[in-house]
Order: sequence, then C-alpha cells, then structure tokens
Amino acid sequence: MSNQANKVKFLTYPERIRSRLERTGEIVFIDGQHVTPSQIWQFMTEEAPKRFPYAYDTKTYNIVRLSDDVDFVSGIKYNYIELTWRDRMLAARSKGIPLILNEGGGQTRDPYYAAGAIPLRPGAVSTWVREMEDGLDLHQIDLRNTAIMESGRKLITIEACNQIGAHAAISDGVVDVDMLAPFLCLRCSDVAYLVEKHRSSQRSYPLQLIDYPINNQVNKEWAVEYFASNLKRLIASILNITSAGMTEDGLKEEIKLHNKMRRLALDIHELWWSANIPPTNSTDFNNIRIFGNDPCGVSAISAISILEETKQEVHERIKNSIKGAGLTDDPVRLFACGSCVSPNPTVVDRAGGVVVGKDDWLSGLYIEVKENGNPYGNLAKANLSISYEQPIEVRALWTVEQIKKSKADGMIFMHQWGCNYQSAVSRMVADIVKEKAGIPTLVIEVDELDKAEALEQSQNRVESFIEMLR
Ligand code: SF4
Repeated sequence: MSNQANKVKFLTYPERIRSRLERTGEIVFIDGQHVTPSQIWQFMTEEAPKRFPYAYDTKTYNIVRLSDDVDFVSGIKYNYIELTWRDRMLAARSKGIPLILNEGGGQTRDPYYAAGAIPLRPGAVSTWVREMEDGLDLHQIDLRNTAIMESGRKLITIEACNQIGAHAAISDGVVDVDMLAPFLCLRCSDVAYLVEKHRSSQRSYPLQLIDYPINNQVNKEWAVEYFASNLKRLIASILNITSAGMTEDGLKEEIKLHNKMRRLALDIHELWWSANIPPTNSTDFNNIRIFGNDPCGVSAISAISILEETKQEVHERIKNSIKGAGLTDDPVRLFACGSCVSPNPTVVDRAGGVVVGKDDWLSGLYIEVKENGNPYGNLAKANLSISYEQPIEVRALWTVEQIKKSKADGMIFMHQWGCNYQSAVSRMVADIVKEKAGIPTLVIEVDELDKAEALEQSQNRVESFIEMLR
C-alpha cells in the first residue's frame, strides 16, 4: 500500500451492533440460498473489508461507500446485499436462474421474478464489475470502470452516456447475462441504440425490447393491450431459456408480494417525512427507496421481512429522537430529480443537508398493480401510469406534490452528460417546481454515472446550494 493509501480511514462495525443484528431474520434469495445474521456479520466485518476495501473507505468523494451509520442495523443488510451481488448472481446462474438486463427505468420487477429470473439494472452490472477482483482501492476500481467505458466508446459511440460501460462489460464478456430486455420508455435517450448494438456484437444474446407507449396513454385501450402483449412476450422469452414454469396464478402471487414491498417502502418514506429529526442519513434512505422497487435477487417474501424490520427500526428511531449518523442538526432538506445520477449523499450530509427523496425511484413505489383480473393488463396499466414517465408537466406537478410531502427546502435536478432527454426536460421541471412549490432549484450536468469517485466540481456546486438554502 502507498503512503497515501495508509492514510485512508476505513469504516468498521463495532461489536455492540452484533447482538442487535443477530436478533433479526435471515435473508433468503430466489435460488433458495439462506444466509443467517451471524453469517452476514462475519461477511461484513471480516471478509468484505479485505475483498472490497473501497466500500469501507470513508472519503467524502467516494460515491460507492457504505453508510456512516453503523448503528442502523437494517442498513447492514442492504450493504450485504450490495456487496454480494456478483457472488450471488454467479451462484444463481449456475443453478439455471437467468439474469436479464432490464434497463429503462422504473418498471416493476414482478414479471421477471415471476418467470424465475433476476432482472439486473445497468447499475448492478457496474457493481458486479467492481466486485470482480479482491483488494482494490477506490482509485483502482475507478480506473478499471473507466477503461471498460472507454472500450465501449470505441466500439459503439462517443456520444452515449456512461451507461455504455455496462454494455461494454457485457459485450466484452466481463459480465455474463442471459438476455437483454429493456423497456423503451420516455426517460432514456440511449438505451435503445445501446441495446440494438448487441445485435452486431461478437457475442450473441437473446434480445427482447419492451415497447412502452409514451405520452400519457394509460387510458387508451389499445396502449394497455399493446403493452400487455409486450409483457407477455417478455415472460414467454424468459420461460424459453429457463426450466422454471409460470402460471397466471403464480404471476398474480408475485404481483401481490411486490405490491406489498412497494407499499412498505412508501410507508417508511411517509414515516421518515413525518419525523422532526431525520431518522436515517441520505445513503441509508436511498437504499430503502431502491430496495422497495428492486429486491436485488432476494425472494419477495424475504424482502418484505427486511422492509418490515426497517420500518420498525425507523419507527424506534423516531420515537427516541435518534438522528441518522453523519447528519448535522436541522439539515437542509433536498429533493433530488433525474435519472441514473444523484447528488453524492455523503457530500450532502457533510455539507449540512439530507436527501429526502428522488423522483425516479420514488415514483416506482407508488405503483399499485391491481391484484384481480388479467395480470398482464394490470401490469401494463400500472406501469403506464408511473408518474415519472408522464408528459413533463404532469411529471413536474407530481414532483411538486412529493416536494411538499417531504418538506424539501430545495430541489436539485442532476443529469448525466449524454442523457439527452433528462437534460432537455430538467429546466422545465425545475421552473415548474420553483413556481408551484416556491423553493429554489438547481440544475447540474455531471459525468459521474458508473464512477466511484465524485468530481470536486459537482460537489462544490451541491455544497454551495446547501449553503445558500441555509
Ligand atoms: S443517464 Fe440518461 S441516457 Fe443514460 S441510461 Fe440513464 S436515462 Fe438513459
């Protein structure tokens, strides 16, 4: 290790947490693997610090670091799930569970799980890449990610957003998936041609595009039927590559469980928003929002238990006026908008702020799929009504509502360089929010998607915004 590396301060979990973690339930994954809280403790305190030192590096500009809040026991479970992505995906695949790249945004994951597959976001592909080699520090993983991204730029285009890195990792065989099945919805300018590029790559993948009728089509019968037929085709294609079968009742059952997950994560949000003192820091709150949408290979029943434990823990913290670790007293409340990139949560917390929500992942939690009747039509209708996918003004007005509920003091719309749709709509969303919610807004373009280290330039702007709000 260099002298500089020796100066890195690493996060450790104190022994006092162990017994609290051991009183929680085990985690069950969809391949049937069980992990006990004792095994989670052993992994997080002994194995992972050696294998993934970058995650324990407490630097402010580390975007992929673990939360400072070592006393938030539910947070340890979310971190375990994150740090075991690659191990778990390889194990699942060896048992015949297909992995499906499902980019495109906030669609519900119920159909993928019902068909016995695991959907992988491009972000999960990047996590997999980070976890490929043991012992790397923050800078080393960033260099490797950048090299993969650059190989994608050479192969495909220099104009795409950094999500090209996930596609390059798949084309180069660094990450193995069984199918590419993205939603072609409004939010994303690049997914369609990044996916199409695989048709001419050396490696050949089954490709299933799910065409999402845009511009407020939810009340049109043709759109619901058309989208439902796309979902039916998606499930049929997954079933073609797996030995698992699926009945319509099985799909309905999965929908019920995912509805419950989304509802629980939303309940936690409402509880969190109602508190005078923020009960978690920004990193932990972000994790809850993501997990409510995407159980990351955990069985839905087990995901529900984890969310129930989280709700209980958040409730206890509110009752005892416990503040999320790393937050200042009375932090400035920031609402985040935009796809794929967000303000670095550690920067926000250390600058005196806290992230109280993010439009993209939050809109997914509001999805309630009808549980009776035709499940494909119900899924289509629910997905077509996602607030984030509506025409810009409708999306912005829904955002205003969330900003009021979360009592945000300011809003930051962040978009990645190369993300043509989000960059185009950002100013309009921000202006509507400013006018209707009466709070200051900031629009920032960044180049941080899939990177592990945030740039000082974007950090400074977030810090100055928080200072201004204060
Ligand atoms: S940053 Fe924009 S263009 Fe890139 S994947 Fe996300 S939504 Fe799509």
